[in-house]
Amino acid sequence: MLAKAKRHIPQRSCIICKRKTAKHELLRLVVDEKGRILFDEKQRLPGRGAYVCPAQPCVAKLFTKHGDKRLRYAFRGKARELPQKTIDKILEILTVPKGATKGYEQGKNL
Ligand SMILES: [Zn+2]
Repeated sequence: MLAKAKRHIPQRSCIICKRKTAKHELLRLVVDEKGRILFDEKQRLPGRGAYVCPAQPCVAKLFTKHGDKRLRYAFRGKARELPQKTIDKILEILTVPKGATKGYEQGKNL
């Protein structure tokens, strides 16, 4: 089981740009039982996740009406609220890159 986990790197698509990236390189969002969208910094919270690139263009779009729609779709209508705390946390990561954004290179296009 462990060997299999090592070989296989789980991939997820960014809900904004749809690009597939290794799960651990993306920002994970989950929705709690009250419908609040939380930033799952350690990727350990239960439930269905939505993933976004830790890149300015994707994150910026996440906070627009367009991103709102994508989040609702990703969470199958369970998301009701995007708390300011979640937004702040994500923005904090972007301005001070460390940990969760490890491996991210700005401007890298595949
Ligand atoms: Zn993206």
